[in-house]
Amino acid sequence: MAHQTATGQNFPPRVLIFPFPAQGHVNCMLQLAELLGLAGIHVTFLNTNHVHRRLLQHADIQARFAAYPGFLFRTISDGLPEDDPRSGNEMRYVLRSMLETTKPVLKDMLSTCGDILGSDSSPYITCIIADGIFGSLANELGNELNIPVIHFRTISACCFWIYFSVPDIIKAEELPIREKEDMDRMIRSVAGMETFLRCRDLPSFCQVSDERDPQLHLVARETRQSARAQSLILNTYEDLEGPLVSHIRTHCPKIYTIGPLHAHLKVRLAKNVSTSTYTPSSNSIFEVDGRCMAWLDSQPFKSVIYVSFGSITVMKRDTLMEFWHGLVNSNKRFLWVVRPDMVAGEVGNNEIPAELVAATRERGYLVGWVPQEEVLAHRAVGGFLTHSGWNSTLESIVAEVPMICWAYFADQPIISRYVGEVWKLGMDMKGVCDRKIVEKMVNDLMVERREDFARSTAEMARLARKSVNEGGSSYCNLDRLIADIRLTSM
Ligand code: UDP
Repeated sequence: MAHQTATGQNFPPRVLIFPFPAQGHVNCMLQLAELLGLAGIHVTFLNTNHVHRRLLQHADIQARFAAYPGFLFRTISDGLPEDDPRSGNEMRYVLRSMLETTKPVLKDMLSTCGDILGSDSSPYITCIIADGIFGSLANELGNELNIPVIHFRTISACCFWIYFSVPDIIKAEELPIREKEDMDRMIRSVAGMETFLRCRDLPSFCQVSDERDPQLHLVARETRQSARAQSLILNTYEDLEGPLVSHIRTHCPKIYTIGPLHAHLKVRLAKNVSTSTYTPSSNSIFEVDGRCMAWLDSQPFKSVIYVSFGSITVMKRDTLMEFWHGLVNSNKRFLWVVRPDMVAGEVGNNEIPAELVAATRERGYLVGWVPQEEVLAHRAVGGFLTHSGWNSTLESIVAEVPMICWAYFADQPIISRYVGEVWKLGMDMKGVCDRKIVEKMVNDLMVERREDFARSTAEMARLARKSVNEGGSSYCNLDRLIADIRLTSM
């Protein structure tokens, strides 16, 4: 739909989308951008230079988005030197740098309209959809420039709700966690989680030994900013996290649950024959190696455990070796993503026991980065050993693949608790890594408890599909979001 300016010119709404520069954030915000593009909304997608360069390694990405009228990629500096690795859980220094350097640049872009409008007829940015990590920065800009701001949180609703509840947890004196305290101590002050939330299930930024911890207060403060935004988008669905979303709604009344976004995008693209170039791996900022698909083709039905710890996890060599022994001792076939920057220090081929090398050659496949959605959807994959990143969890749910959860940091400990205890979609290993546990869990998941998990994963996947199909909750919520964005240019 087009709208009219005072001069009588028609113009569509133009949205500025601004993700945090990490794979899990950029991926689903690009999916949202594509969904808005399909609805005819003009999008300016603002990446950091570093992320954009890596995205451009996919020759198709510019062409794919150019199919959407008015779609623009623009870039901004993250304030760090070119050669900074920007990896590991120290990603928070990237956030700090951006909070220090980005606001004036962004303000200048938005107020002068610089080159963020392209050559189409939108006279200004009508709405900002900012990663909720930048909650206060986005709200301040919106207020100063009188532009409506919508927050998009790429974390699960369960994690969002804990971040939001931090002041209540402190008031109830359930935080901090005293040194040497039992991590199984229950936390009772988070509404909706009274019966199963333990200290060890809290997001890593909340597992603090001092209630004045700056990281704790940063996540709590930025999360609470979403109550001041015009609305909040969550990549989840009502049948999965509805009860938690109801708690959040008491503070943030306007919430659009529109996930799982990757599945939602596929549904909407299927209705639109003119734009069908999307392949799941094309939003990747890593170089995708698709050769494992041929290996998977030659494996028996549901015989392979897929292992991946996402884009940020860094582990010690000892941990890697425990996983490796556990996988080999399970006697199952495995496909394992080992990013070149995943292990702290050198692994060194010489130091790897010969029996591991031989067993891996026989029934394993190690790879740097795979097209994950395609891997999970493959008939040979019967289980997923995951770090419980939110995108990976949603992708596993949609593909009906049960999970073993080895949470690394951020929202992952609470997601793994939900997977194991609440949704019953797999087993929660938490951060413990011991070869015997890995071996047992792989066997339980793939053999002993396979039937139980088959039932629960099939049901949750059915509900996910229902939510993104026409008439489903996520489908209707996206329509509502699109209608509300259109109002911003009236
Ligand atoms: N991913 C991928 N190939 C891989 C490993 C991961 O395409 O080899 C994708 C995965 O499909 C997911 C994203 O990377 O969309 C990881 O996001 P997630 O939230 O699971 O974890 P994070 O990387 O943010 O820790």
